[in-house]
Amino acid sequence: TSTMTGTGSTTTEAGITEAFKADSFDKKINLGVGAYRDDKGKPYVLPSVKTAEQKVVSAGLNKEYAGITGVPDFTKAAAQLAYGKDSSALDRLTITQSISGTGALRIGAAFLERFYPGDKTIYIPTPSWANHKAVFNDAGLKVKQYSYYDKKTIGLDFDGMLSDIKAAPKGSIFLFHACAHNPTGVDPTEEQWKEISEAVKAQDHYAFFDMAYQGFASGNTDKDAFAVRYFVQQGHNICLAQSFAKNMGLYGERVGAFSIVAASAEEKKRIDSQIKILVRPLYSNPPIHGARIASEILNNPALYEQWLAEVKEMADRIITMRALLKDNLEKLGSKHDWSHITSQIGMFAYTGLDASQMDQLAQEHSVYATKDGRISVAGITTENVGRLAEAIYKVKG
Ligand code: PLP
Repeated sequence: TSTMTGTGSTTTEAGITEAFKADSFDKKINLGVGAYRDDKGKPYVLPSVKTAEQKVVSAGLNKEYAGITGVPDFTKAAAQLAYGKDSSALDRLTITQSISGTGALRIGAAFLERFYPGDKTIYIPTPSWANHKAVFNDAGLKVKQYSYYDKKTIGLDFDGMLSDIKAAPKGSIFLFHACAHNPTGVDPTEEQWKEISEAVKAQDHYAFFDMAYQGFASGNTDKDAFAVRYFVQQGHNICLAQSFAKNMGLYGERVGAFSIVAASAEEKKRIDSQIKILVRPLYSNPPIHGARIASEILNNPALYEQWLAEVKEMADRIITMRALLKDNLEKLGSKHDWSHITSQIGMFAYTGLDASQMDQLAQEHSVYATKDGRISVAGITTENVGRLAEAIYKVKG
């Protein structure tokens, strides 16, 4: 199967789903999907989303177009969720609704391609979400990579990352995963983010944050926004892509936002109008239904509290499955160090298994995931974790 990362080592999620469907074994396991599953392995619609949707429907609103930048109650609340209610950035923030996180990245890329004063190259981590390179390239940016994941430690190559930030030409654009790095599940610590911020500042680089998993990493939306808020506090006028696909389970509704922290209220006005000029010929204006649902949740205090608890529940289930997988591997007598399974964050775990071991998992054990060794922890359940551990143990020891 072809790959978007260009490394040649990953199969696409679609390819995995096909192979999974073709397998007739009833205990087959699909760890290739990038979406949350409940403990029965089923797609999950959050109860807060169901309630919000009912409220939206019973309000009997019309279906007129939103403005170019979307549903204002939604974007205002999305900005507060990301930057914090008391953020000094809110008064000088340009924000537009987007076609989920991907659309936000695309608008950001198009904006930078048109207006970024320096070299139009964006540095993304090695590895990164498979679609980053394609989105940025298609918008006309050049893409280079910085060190991120260390195969040997199955952790962060912090020194490599810092030295690449320092070595990049002054004023370069850097893309950071705000939390729950996809595909590795490896995030910098808060102390490391502080050093990253310093290095970015010293080089006059520009930080573009992709926050596709706010709340989903730790179960706490404030904690997961640490890097974004810290950078803003430190005076970085960042830009940010937000997605409500994972944390609200609104995948197919395509709810997201793109924002830019301007240097001043005056600059904000100019960016506002440029964003409108840019979005109008792309898709005129964004869809309203999902944004109304998200807005209902974010603006209704009771629903908001309920949603926070539900996000935490999803995050906790993932954390529990990580611990169970590690326990099971240890109980089987595996001599490998599996601590990365529990130290990694978010929906995905990098197992450290190589492509041939991943092939063996699929062919001999009906366990399907990408060949880079990434598994979606959301696909693990209390029922399948034992068999999964056995399969990994048989393949890796
Ligand atoms: N960014 C990252 C790192 C992701 O993992 C994803 C989804 O998997 C996205 C952005 C965008 O997703 P969506 O367009 O569904 O919001």
